Order: sequence, then C-alpha cells, then structure tokens
Amino acid sequence: MKERLQQLQQEALEKIEQANDLKALNDVRVAYLGKKGPITEVLRGMGALSPEERPVMGALVNEVREVIQTALEAKQATLEQAEVEKKLASEAIDVTLPGRPVKRGNHHPLTRVIEEIEDLFIGMGYTIAEGPEVEKDYYNFEALNLPKGHPARDMQDSFYITEEILLRTHTSPVQARTMEKHQGRGPVKIICPGKVYRRDNDDATHSHQFTQIEGLVVDENIRMSDLKGTLREFARKMFGEDRDIRFRPSFFPFTEPSVEVDVSCANCGGHGCSVCKGTGWIEILGAGMVHPNVLEMAGFDSKKYTGFAFGMGPERIAMLKYGIDDIRHFYQNDVRFLQQFNRV
Ligand SMILES: [Zn+2]
Repeated sequence: MKERLQQLQQEALEKIEQANDLKALNDVRVAYLGKKGPITEVLRGMGALSPEERPVMGALVNEVREVIQTALEAKQATLEQAEVEKKLASEAIDVTLPGRPVKRGNHHPLTRVIEEIEDLFIGMGYTIAEGPEVEKDYYNFEALNLPKGHPARDMQDSFYITEEILLRTHTSPVQARTMEKHQGRGPVKIICPGKVYRRDNDDATHSHQFTQIEGLVVDENIRMSDLKGTLREFARKMFGEDRDIRFRPSFFPFTEPSVEVDVSCANCGGHGCSVCKGTGWIEILGAGMVHPNVLEMAGFDSKKYTGFAFGMGPERIAMLKYGIDDIRHFYQNDVRFLQQFNRV
C-alpha cells in the first residue's frame, strides 16, 4: 500500500508538471484528489489494516495529498502568471512607435486677405461692423438710394426669400444700419467684411457667392482728398510701398461723385504687361463720396456731414496678390490649392 501511494504521488507530480494550462491542471486535481480518485480508494482500503498500521498509513496518505496539493497550487500560480504575461504582451502599447502626425490646417487665402485688410484699417482707427446676410430690401437697396424699380438694381439681382427679404448683394446694408444707429451723430469710421450673394452664372471671374469689404467714414469736413490718401495708404500696404493709385470717374447710386480705383501694376511697375493688359494699371475697388440722400435717409444732416465709402472684393485682391487665375478655386475646398498658402 505504501508503494502504491508513492507510485501515485510520483504519477500525479509528473502530470502536474506536464499540465500546460489551467484546465489540464484541474483535470489532474480531479483525477488524483477527487472523490473517485485513487487516493480516496486507498483510504477506503484502510479498513483491512491492523489498528497499529492505520495511523501510520493515514499519516502517509495525508502527506501524499499534501505534496500533491502543494504541487498543484504552485503549478496553478505559475500558469496564472504566464497567462497574465501573455495577455500583457498581446495588449502591449509600443511607446517607441512614432506618433501619427497631426495635420495642421491653415487660414483660407480669403480669410488671410480679409484679416490683413482689417488689421490695416484698424491701424487707421476704424472699427469692424457686421450685419445679417439675410437682409431687408430696405437696407440692401432703398436706404442706399436704390428705390424699387431703379435700373441699377439689375446689376445686383439676388436670391429672394420674399418680396422684401433677400440675401444681401453687398455689405453696404451694414453701412446703412450702422449710420442709423448713430442717430445723426458722427463720426462713423467702419470696415464691413462679409459674404454677399448675387444671381450670377459661375465662371472664372464670377461666383454667386463671394466676399466684400467696405469702408465708410462720415464726419464733418471729410473730403475726397481724405479718400484718396486713405486708399493710397491701403494700396501701398497691400501691394508694396512704391505703388500708386489713380481715380477714374464712375457711377454708383450711393456715392456722388463715384470713382473706380486702379493701383499701378506690381508685376511690370506700370510699364504694361499681360497682368495689367498692357495698361500699367489694375482696377481694385470702387469708391466715392457718400450721396447726400444716403446720409439724409440714415438721419444725418448732409449740410453738416460728409463722408466717403469704398468697397472691394477680397477675391480680386487675393487673385492679384497670389496670382490665382480662377475665382472658383476659393470655394472648391481642394486641399491641393489650399495647401499652397501654408507658408504665405
Ligand atoms: Zn503690368
């Protein structure tokens, strides 16, 4: 019986050693220490022993059980540890891997131009004024000396929400609204940037949506020479210190007199080239002295106050500044186009 027990112990220890996962180990436990296992069987056979032999054999059975139990526990700990390590290895984060590069965005070329123009005029004491893009006919046209049926409205056909509400065709309604808020008291000195809309067929130089920046100054003793000095300063800051500007007579319903403003061509220095179509000059904006009707409609005494206004398209400025040949590039969100302005 003693040999049988030693043989069982030997067998069990070998199987424990061979068990390579927790399930196999548990099978060994059940096989050797379970109620139907060989050791329990040995215990049952003790009845046949003499009273002197029983305690000796009992102690031996307990000892064998103890040895097997200890071996099982040790092996279980080893297997559990191995499992944890395996799991850790499979879920490991390799901190030495280089990170995924974050794609940095940048300002849209139009935003750049608008901010540059804003900065320039803020430096001359202007404030920024903004207004709604869905606008009343009154502010978009009537308050700007464009009564219903005025032929100049045809040049600015828009998208109408109702008969009286439309998408603004220019940023000028912001001027009308700002003047109204001033209740006839100057000075007014503002820059109005924003999106505007016109019913237009899109091509290389036209878009149904584009941006504008307008400026307005209303005060006592504002003269046309103030306008010219302001715009020359603007042209030099925007296009280079040796640029010059010239005024050509024009017509806008909200200014009198009205002018188109040209800047001398930066590409050829005024000698004539393909950029300036051989003239040496490039048209950049429209301007003029605020029409007395516009001042009166906004509550200003046109005998006391005068003012000037100008308006330009940031698209046109950006196209000239960066040599862009198609206005549609600004709105198509083609990353290949936009990326070119990363370091401008
Ligand atoms: Zn030129």
